[in-house]
Amino acid sequence: MANAPLADAVSSGGVYDVGVGSAPATTCRVSDLFRDTDEASHRVTGAEMRQEHEDALVRVRLGVAASLYAALRCKHQPTAAHSLRVALGCSLWAASRGVAGDELDQLEVAALLHDIGKVGVPDELLMKPRKLSSDEAQLMNRHRKMGLYILLSCCESVEVMHTVGNAAAWYDGSRPDFELQGRDIPLGARLLAIVDAYDAMTTDHVYRPAMSRERALTELIECAGRQFDPDLVKEWVELQLGDITRLQAAVAQRWLVQLDQDAANRFWGFNPQPWPQESEPQLLFQQKLLDAMHDGVVFVDTKLEITLWNRGAERLTGIGRDAVIGHTWSAEMIDMCEENGRTVATANCPVVNAVEHGRQAHRRMTIGGRDGKALQVNVHAVPVIGPNHTVFGATLVLHDASPESSLEAQCQQLHEQVTKDPLTQVANRAAFDQAHPGYVSSHLAAKSPYSLIITDIDHFKRINDTFGHQAGDEALVKFAALLRDGCRPGDVVARYGGEEFVVLCSNCDSATASRRAEEIRQQIASTAMEMLDGQAITASFGVTDLRPGDTPDTMLRRADRALLTAKDQGRNRVEVIGDESAESRPKQPGFFRRLFARTDAAAVAGQDLLTPVPLKVAIEKLRGFVADHGAELVKIHENDLVLRIGGGVPLLRRASDGAWSLLIELSFSEQLFLRRSTAGQASDQVHTHVRVAIRPKRSRDAKRPEVRQKAEQLLISLRSYLMAHDVGEDEKGVLRKATTLVATWLGRSPEN
Ligand code: GH3
Ligand code: MG
Ligand code: MG
Repeated sequence: MANAPLADAVSSGGVYDVGVGSAPATTCRVSDLFRDTDEASHRVTGAEMRQEHEDALVRVRLGVAASLYAALRCKHQPTAAHSLRVALGCSLWAASRGVAGDELDQLEVAALLHDIGKVGVPDELLMKPRKLSSDEAQLMNRHRKMGLYILLSCCESVEVMHTVGNAAAWYDGSRPDFELQGRDIPLGARLLAIVDAYDAMTTDHVYRPAMSRERALTELIECAGRQFDPDLVKEWVELQLGDITRLQAAVAQRWLVQLDQDAANRFWGFNPQPWPQESEPQLLFQQKLLDAMHDGVVFVDTKLEITLWNRGAERLTGIGRDAVIGHTWSAEMIDMCEENGRTVATANCPVVNAVEHGRQAHRRMTIGGRDGKALQVNVHAVPVIGPNHTVFGATLVLHDASPESSLEAQCQQLHEQVTKDPLTQVANRAAFDQAHPGYVSSHLAAKSPYSLIITDIDHFKRINDTFGHQAGDEALVKFAALLRDGCRPGDVVARYGGEEFVVLCSNCDSATASRRAEEIRQQIASTAMEMLDGQAITASFGVTDLRPGDTPDTMLRRADRALLTAKDQGRNRVEVIGDESAESRPKQPGFFRRLFARTDAAAVAGQDLLTPVPLKVAIEKLRGFVADHGAELVKIHENDLVLRIGGGVPLLRRASDGAWSLLIELSFSEQLFLRRSTAGQASDQVHTHVRVAIRPKRSRDAKRPEVRQKAEQLLISLRSYLMAHDVGEDEKGVLRKATTLVATWLGRSPEN
């Protein structure tokens, strides 16, 4: 370890092995407090000191400041034990050289507290079982400044401070951050440096075992003149090699018998200190980070004076730090503008706002780039607020947004190309195909209303023919804009094709949707269009809302049917196929279970339904179901009929339903119910009883989950179209024979 920094041995880990807690309960002799000079046992072990002796010594020496020692012991007991050994060592040595009185007192106090700053060192460093890295060693070395800070706040002895502050200085003056060298270094500090190093070297640490006494003394000798006072090293070596038992007894005698605890208090008084500026290595880390950052970082103080301008800021602005440090910040300095190019008023400057109003800002702005061109940046200005809400200034982060913004723009453009209709700028058909199934499934899941408006311009062919295709285009644009204006958040307007548009109305029932459609219809009909020589166009509307059992396709077909009806009824009107019967919704969560409990073996779904309308009306409703589900009538006999669904008929727009098909067997019968009004009057009411069984065409498909799921969905949908409910137990008893033939209403002749 020739010329190796012994100071590192003293302070690198600060781990000293004195297991006071494991000391035996036998009496402890004063000499036990010193290192045993016996060759075989000079490593201090846990049994050597007992806490009460340690406490007694420390209390008498430090007075009220014994609490500092206690704090150090709480933080890291081995460091506290080391401090006491060093203090006793310094004491015996100094006394042997004739040091006495205040000078001796000061040295003892300084030695006891020379490592007090370690209370501020992270545990993981104090306990690290390996050598510290250079960054960690830098962090560890902060303990000296923290120690001085602690002592500054309570120690009234300049000499103690001076001794602690210089104990790590090198004799030849070569250690950075220490001004004194040679004999200018206080004697106490020079003694302390040697005793400290010796104790550290001859003690076990978690990161290395203790050295032998000879080896440690050799190390001291080798470092004499450079790190340590050479004369003092010689003295210490002689002292260690001689008989020091007598000296030890004298020290113990002095501490335990002669010292006056009250006199020890003369060193102490509370003298609060401002928290020192963060120093290295924390600052080094921060500096490194700031310099390596691609982003520009600027610090300003409360007077808006620039205190930091990192390399990133130089790179982005082309302005060197020397040109701005110490100058007052202004937005013009870097040509900071709003995103639209407008200059930033002082009241709007994010930096000024951060400092003056404590407001944080995150904005897209432009600054003058290094090539003189405007550069898009994300600006993040953050007020720096300390304890008690004191504003210290602000940090400004400038993030180059130009590559991002052009990428963002490209992505946006691509997205729009894919989803927007280029003429009318509303969503295109592909976007509708994408959005509608999502709306259906999410609203079904949430059991929230969802409506679809489909609209088609009336006699648009004539408009083209009369005013030309260009005018027709302009009318389409205008029409789409009116639809969009009538939208609420969450709605989507899409061009379905040609002059046909759809509006997806989220969380909206059919009554509300039809009212909105009516408003739009009236507005269109009363909007004079310039390109049509002041004429207005009209449009027809079909409206429907989501029903239980709906697929995106059935809902769209139903809306389309409503639109066709509007056209049939003379155009320029709104037709609704709404959810006329709230009754049709399943009321209990156990619906499916009850349903299947009654299903016969071959059928995957089945139910006895009752709809409060005559057979004729029920059949009309069935027509809607047949049309919207693309069902095929495969068999009809009297009041029984069979529908087929699937088998190549696309039920879902996107999903492939596979090659299975379902047969829906329906048996209708009209029933007469005797109802009694609240006034007590009895009247007959005609209801239609519908017996439903749904089975796959091939019985082996009955096991397929998607087939069973589809069957359940169809049953719910059928119930909804028929406005039917389950036949209750009391209703079963009054079901009567059918009086009318289904075939009559379907316009088919009965088959046999
Ligand atoms: P109806 O009231 O029954 O809907 O009659 P209509 O004339 O509007 O219906 P039809 O389907 O017969 O004609 C639609 C017309 O819309 C035909 C087509 O030339 C026109 N059209 C479709 N897309 C565009 C377009 O992008 N621009 C223009 N100018 N016309 C279009
Ligand atoms: Mg049309
Ligand atoms: Mg059309």
